[in-house]
Amino acid sequence: MDNDRSLTHRPRRLRQDRIRGLVSETSLEPSDLIAPVFVDATADERVPIDSMPGHERVPVSDAVSRVEEVLETGVEAVMLFGIPTSKDPDGTRAWADDGVVQEATRRITAETDAYVLTDACLCEYTDHGHCGPLEEELRGDAHSHDHDPDLDATLTVDNDATLEALEKIAVSHAEAGADMIAPSGMMDGMVGAIRGALDREGFEHVPIMSYAAKYESAFYGPFRDAADGAPAFGNRRHYQMDPANAREAIREVELDVEQGADVLMVKPALPYLDIVSSLRREFDHPIAAYNVSGEYAMLHAASEKGWLDLEAVARESLLSIKRAGADLILTYFAEEVARSY
Ligand SMILES: [Zn+2]
Repeated sequence: MDNDRSLTHRPRRLRQDRIRGLVSETSLEPSDLIAPVFVDATADERVPIDSMPGHERVPVSDAVSRVEEVLETGVEAVMLFGIPTSKDPDGTRAWADDGVVQEATRRITAETDAYVLTDACLCEYTDHGHCGPLEEELRGDAHSHDHDPDLDATLTVDNDATLEALEKIAVSHAEAGADMIAPSGMMDGMVGAIRGALDREGFEHVPIMSYAAKYESAFYGPFRDAADGAPAFGNRRHYQMDPANAREAIREVELDVEQGADVLMVKPALPYLDIVSSLRREFDHPIAAYNVSGEYAMLHAASEKGWLDLEAVARESLLSIKRAGADLILTYFAEEVARSY
């Protein structure tokens, strides 16, 4: 055996420098990435977001220049989030014609070639921070033992009232020029409601990217600094998915597909790559994954301590999301990664 070096299988043959690229199974391009942009109607100047180094809330007057910075890196698409001038229980500023996202969208689409996606939800617009107007919760069992002391058990989001608001939001975004509408509230029936409203108003060409499998995740923490959208009480577990559930994601996504979703999103990304992978197998639609603020912040924090090489781990993270089956990735690393191409 000592002299027998004739190994039939040597995978290392294909790992040599000049062949690696040819046999690489997954690629990552700036055109795969969507950069989130925060537009703040209450700001007069750019405000850094402490928990998301390198990101800022920008005033409406800076929305175009912010998007131009993104485009210069090679990233072609942005997702707009808005912080409104005022909040109320119903989140009415979310569909105002002169609302923050509507105004920013008009300027960005008039002055740049960016592909503009808009987040359609109410949590940044309601004074209680939930994703829709509230109602008294109907409980099937008054003696339920799963009472959660952290939750105000008498209030929850009114699903069907929220659908009406989402219809108005989507149409207002489309009228402002949004290229794609992305409902993120995990309301039952939201995709169908928005599809119907867009079609009625002549926006049948505007696609919907549904946050189809959005989990109730602790990884959203830094985003809540950025978008000022933390719920004032309780949490979002009554509408966002339980992190324990994988089969339920298939069911959620099937419903969105039936209602006409064009792109299916999983959020967060890295802790849910199994979901990305199973959706890739089950559906032919493009799959998006949202590499969320917590995934971004933890790599930044570790690199600030000198524990990780930021550029390398950012790229490896995004590559792994693509390898799992995502076609497009929303990520706060979009510009950093694209710049290195
Ligand atoms: Zn929301």
